[in-house]
Amino acid sequence: MLKVNEDLCIGCGICVGQCPFSAIEIENGIAVVGDSCTLCGACVESCDVAALALEGTEKSVQVDLASWSGVWVYCEFRQGVLASVALELLGVGRRLADRRGVQLSAILIGHDTGETAKSLIAHGADKVFRLDHEKLRHFSEDCYAKLVTALVKEHRPEIVLAGATAIGRSFIPGVATTLNAGLTADCTGLDIRDEDGALMQTRPAFGGNIMATIVCPSSRPQMATVRPHVMQSLEYNAERVGQIIDVIPTSLQLQSRIRVVEEVMSQGSNVNIQEADILVSGGRGLENPKGFELLQKLADTLGANISASRAVVDAGWIPYPHQVGQTGKTVAPKLYIACGISGAVQHVAGMQSSETIVAINRDAHASIFDVADFGIVGDLYEVIPKLINKIEDYRRA
Ligand SMILES: Cc1cc2nc3c(=O)[nH]c(=O)nc-3n(C[C@H](O)[C@H](O)[C@H](O)COP(=O)(O)OP(=O)(O)OC[C@H]3O[C@@H](n4cnc5c(N)ncnc54)[C@H](O)[C@@H]3O)c2cc1C
Repeated sequence: MLKVNEDLCIGCGICVGQCPFSAIEIENGIAVVGDSCTLCGACVESCDVAALALEGTEKSVQVDLASWSGVWVYCEFRQGVLASVALELLGVGRRLADRRGVQLSAILIGHDTGETAKSLIAHGADKVFRLDHEKLRHFSEDCYAKLVTALVKEHRPEIVLAGATAIGRSFIPGVATTLNAGLTADCTGLDIRDEDGALMQTRPAFGGNIMATIVCPSSRPQMATVRPHVMQSLEYNAERVGQIIDVIPTSLQLQSRIRVVEEVMSQGSNVNIQEADILVSGGRGLENPKGFELLQKLADTLGANISASRAVVDAGWIPYPHQVGQTGKTVAPKLYIACGISGAVQHVAGMQSSETIVAINRDAHASIFDVADFGIVGDLYEVIPKLINKIEDYRRA
């Protein structure tokens, strides 16, 4: 807990200004801590008279930073397929490793991984730690966490990256906790700070209204999960050379409390809006779930997939795998057509990297027009049929 030493506190109020959560007030000349305190420690560092202290909270142990070196990427491999985010992470990992003048390594865990390790090298890795074992065919949080933790402890990389996918999100926090490291989840930007080589991890904060850049200056490894489809992968280069290290897991590491009985695809999970070149996206402006039938006609005309805003997912008009945005998927298609979507920051966060954005909205002041390359002001039920006719006419011509 955060303790205020009343003998030392002078009621200067510096801590009040420093607290990002408005958790401190000055009462009768003494700092008083409220319930919204998150023990972030910002006030402790700002207090000139050392009147504030975090008690019972293990502060990060000062580590020998020089003994940690290299950039690592956990490369997700499942049911014989490498997740595309793995290659994106190798792309950004290569850039970070070159800035630091260190090696880029990939961790590959699964079974029947075939030529995947070679492909990771062709996409930028200098080294691949391959754990290919029958018992690792199915993802299990505890096994994967034990294996990655053991490798990190042994080789001491300064940076560890993983995809912010269902798998990355489920076991990487456990690895970070065991290593007593920080973890910045859901990053959308990564860079190296010039003065000390620290990893700058940028992610949306406070409901997507600001972008926060987070650094872990005194603990290692620096760990981050990164949203799919935000980073660029490198071109496949068969000329690249690297080292593949086969790691044999111990029987203890392979012991899991989880037994996979059956793998069942959840309904709609075969929808992969992140791979689509064209997305026709519907929002509350559709007015009812039947509106998606019209969107489907436009999508069929264009060879597109259907995506949606959270408002209509929450309303049960379309399943969650279609949701674009901060709490949905990040997409970057060649063409994104937003139909009856207002353009809330949380939605825009998930589609602003699209190559071309077309917005159809009857409100000329809707924020979606701020990010759109082409805007059509009008009722979507009048505009979309005309659009379909135009496209068909164009095709026939
Ligand atoms: C923590 C948090 C996370 C969130 N995550 C997400 C997320 O991942 N994705 C997401 O989308 N949202 C997210 N939201 C919700 C977000 O803030 C908005 O509420 C949501 O995006 C609004 O959806 P919408 O644009 O479909 O609906 P609305 O904001 O209601 O907009 C409907 C639009 O349709 C237009 N319209 C109405 N009728 C017609 C018509 N006939 N023809 C043409 N236009 C018409 C209106 O002018 C309006 O602009 C999140 C919110 C929070 C707080």
